[in-house]
Amino acid sequence: MCATSSPASRSPRGRRARDRARPALLRVISASLREEVTNLLRALIRIDTVNPPGNETAAAELLREYLEGNGVRCELYARVPERANLVARLPGRASGPRLLLLSHTDTVLADPAEWTVDPWSGELRDGYVWGRGALDMKGQVAASAVAIASLAREGFEPAGDLIFAATADEEVGEDPDFGLSWLCREHPQAVRAEYAVNEGAGDRIEVGGRALYLCAAAEKMTSPFVLRVHGRSGHASLPSIADNALVKAARLIDRLARLDPEPTLGPETEAFLRAVVGSVPPAREALAAAARVDPAAAAMIEPLLAMTVSPTMISASSKRNVIPAVCEVTVDCRLLPGQTQAEAEQLLRAQLGEGEYELVWREGQGGTRSAVDTPLWAAVESFVAGVEAGAQAVPMCVAGFTDSHWLRAAFGTVAYGFFPVKTMDPDLASRLVHSADERVAVDDVALGLEFLRHVAIAIGSEPGAG
Ligand SMILES: [Zn+2]
Repeated sequence: MCATSSPASRSPRGRRARDRARPALLRVISASLREEVTNLLRALIRIDTVNPPGNETAAAELLREYLEGNGVRCELYARVPERANLVARLPGRASGPRLLLLSHTDTVLADPAEWTVDPWSGELRDGYVWGRGALDMKGQVAASAVAIASLAREGFEPAGDLIFAATADEEVGEDPDFGLSWLCREHPQAVRAEYAVNEGAGDRIEVGGRALYLCAAAEKMTSPFVLRVHGRSGHASLPSIADNALVKAARLIDRLARLDPEPTLGPETEAFLRAVVGSVPPAREALAAAARVDPAAAAMIEPLLAMTVSPTMISASSKRNVIPAVCEVTVDCRLLPGQTQAEAEQLLRAQLGEGEYELVWREGQGGTRSAVDTPLWAAVESFVAGVEAGAQAVPMCVAGFTDSHWLRAAFGTVAYGFFPVKTMDPDLASRLVHSADERVAVDDVALGLEFLRHVAIAIGSEPGAG
């Protein structure tokens, strides 16, 4: 449910008014905090945490030294010694809601030959910190650490625990897992929280002349499947005596490409449309309505209206002169939050029709959402409103998987992906994630730090459940 349509008793308007009464919240962070977060980020980048192998313990140790030096209690949790997760905590003075600032310390690999600078230099150049992980996501790691450390120094006492987790193994996270999924399973008390802020969004976009900041409140389920098509093998010189599975697969691929599922509007898409179009059109007209305001807005919501299906890999005969008896087509498929594989399979089988094939799901990961009529949403909203006149926070459903899923699934945590990107062009930023010359604007890291402090203070002032 979205804030404006919710019958819930909490009044977002009342909350915003209360936030306005705390002008100190949105003061620009001091030059020394800015330097502190920049230096910590540069030090983190200089630690190579490419996953695999990860070696995140080195980053966890650095963070522990920094945080304990600021009076913040830390605990390291590791499935194997070299892959530690750090969890730091500012204990709550009462039974208020817990807020978890979540981040991961591992990165994808980098090929120095493709880079202008050494990817592990943490070089500071023209207001940008360069290096692998600057955007994904050591900038947010550093900002989260400095947020909790600076609040501890100031004697801040939240109503509920303020927790900072810098986890391992987000970029791979397969079995065996070492990061947040493992923590949720083996040490749930360490990371259990009512609210969490993670990566996933924060981009500033301009739509129809208005500044919008995207906040990830939901994610689609990554749900790839394989179509295994059966035929009969034979010598390729005599096609009529065989039954070519590859040719049969081609017909099925064509049907998949023409799949046009009925669009639906999730609460995030509705809120996005309300912000961009001014109203919520019927689902069938949503794309056209968004496109009239800005084609970029239409491109953003298109994958959120229905499941998507993209055949990406195929394997058949291993010999040129042998007609294949089996052809396997791998299909990247993303379901809407809440949509089940059984529902999707019904649609897929109706589209494919009868035939000699099997449809085999490979996995089903993610697909969770958090409500957007919450105190955490109000905090995001009030922060964005204070960043620039007329700016608005809008919820988004992301197409990929993030660690927010583990929290939502394990504890029902309200988890959002938000770290504002205002100075850097968001298109450039998304191109640089996982590629050469990754860098982050110091101004954006400082803004992110300001945001995290704002959220910590806002949630830390929430009364307890009793
Ligand atoms: Zn990441």
